[in-house]
Amino acid sequence: MSDIDVIVVGAGLAGAAAARRLRQQGKSVRVIEARARCGGRGYAKAYGGNGPELEFGGAWITPWHQRLRALVSEHGLSLRPRHDVTNRLWLRDGTLHADGPAAGAEVTAHERAIARVAADSILLKKGITTNEKGEPLTGVPFRDYLDRLHCPKATRDLFSAWWTVSGNGDHAQIAASEFLASCAYDNGLAEGMIKFWADTVVPGMGVLAERMIAASGAELVMSAPVTEIAQNPDAVEVVSGAERHRAQACVVALGLNQLAAISFTPGLSAPKQAAIARGHGGRSFKLWIKAEGVPVGTLVTGDGSGIEFAFAERSGGDGSSYIVGFGLMQDGNTPADPAWVRAQMAKLFPNARVISHDWHDWVDDPFARGTWVAAPAGHEAGLDCANWQPQGRIAFASSDYAREQAGWFEGAVIAGEDAAEAVQALS
Ligand SMILES: Cc1cc2nc3c(=O)[nH]c(=O)nc-3n(C[C@H](O)[C@H](O)[C@H](O)COP(=O)(O)OP(=O)(O)OC[C@H]3O[C@@H](n4cnc5c(N)ncnc54)[C@H](O)[C@@H]3O)c2cc1C
Repeated sequence: MSDIDVIVVGAGLAGAAAARRLRQQGKSVRVIEARARCGGRGYAKAYGGNGPELEFGGAWITPWHQRLRALVSEHGLSLRPRHDVTNRLWLRDGTLHADGPAAGAEVTAHERAIARVAADSILLKKGITTNEKGEPLTGVPFRDYLDRLHCPKATRDLFSAWWTVSGNGDHAQIAASEFLASCAYDNGLAEGMIKFWADTVVPGMGVLAERMIAASGAELVMSAPVTEIAQNPDAVEVVSGAERHRAQACVVALGLNQLAAISFTPGLSAPKQAAIARGHGGRSFKLWIKAEGVPVGTLVTGDGSGIEFAFAERSGGDGSSYIVGFGLMQDGNTPADPAWVRAQMAKLFPNARVISHDWHDWVDDPFARGTWVAAPAGHEAGLDCANWQPQGRIAFASSDYAREQAGWFEGAVIAGEDAAEAVQALS
């Protein structure tokens, strides 16, 4: 006997979208979430415990994220436009420059590399996976792609900074196509990525997920990590602690790196298991720094190490600003350490007085195990939605392997709705 029609495991945006759509189809739904909050990698909290609500996970949505925009208005939330970039600085040879990333004799080689990336990115957008020199554009780690460009260090540093907000993983492992695909938003220009980070959701993406579930009328069970999911031809059983939940079907709305914690009976298909064992390589850090002396709208890209990307996005209202910084979780980077953050800030904003910083460690978080999706080079197929089709009575939904807009909140919503349709097709 089933307790309920459908169990949704995970209350991130994918789980919330699945629950909402399943309820619209008239199903009874129970959402089971490991944490004591909804939203997953969408997580706004008060900066430093008593400051403004800031997004410590995903934040920006683009103009074409229409599903999210509709959900924001449906659930009575609002959008905050991102501050324009009004001051652009590059760190080169230990000094900040306002005249561009490269200088002197390096400018020609720099511009050649920018043009090469633009051409490759546009080819990839058209679905062409080899450039006119016969070089592959997929299956290539970012580091090998950079080597191929033979560009000056300043250009490499610039691309590395944009990598922290696109490919966001080990240069030697993650596919360069993650970076090229993000450049494609603005005719192949890395610098154009930020143009389309149009808005953030107020008060936060997690509140949107919570409201979507509440308004749908789905039952929500919190603080209940799922460890086992078993199915037979008639039903699915989901185990969390001492609780056993039975349903006719299940939507597993978990990111790729979260699936390893679940034991499936019968086991998942071999390609799914291989993708889970490998995981995705999204391993960046995002932190917020409160400082004085940094005009809002300032964007600085770094020297290929530490905090590589820093944007003063919000005014603190008292002469201070909130700077969002990105880098990779590697090479002795210690974003938890105030002294390390101050040393990074001294490079990027020499005139700033750092007041404090705050962050969330997504890589160590047991219910995230990484940031946004980043495909290991040569294993992109494991993340293709074709690999995440339903198995028996279980459908899968995450932004990590969405059919469109993978890696974005919008992709999570698309994946959740797709999974709900797949479950509907079972009945
Ligand atoms: C630092 C950072 C910056 C980002 N920036 C952006 C951005 O600007 N714009 C954008 O669109 N996207 C951004 N993203 C990506 C975006 O946050 C994700 O793509 C999206 O939140 C993924 O949603 P999801 O529902 O697929 O997965 P998740 O949000 O990870 O949801 C999975 C849910 O399942 C729960 N769970 C995990 N394990 C279990 C278990 N065993 N049992 C029960 N529940 C479990 C989790 O707690 C979570 O609530 C960013 C992500 C990070 C980390």
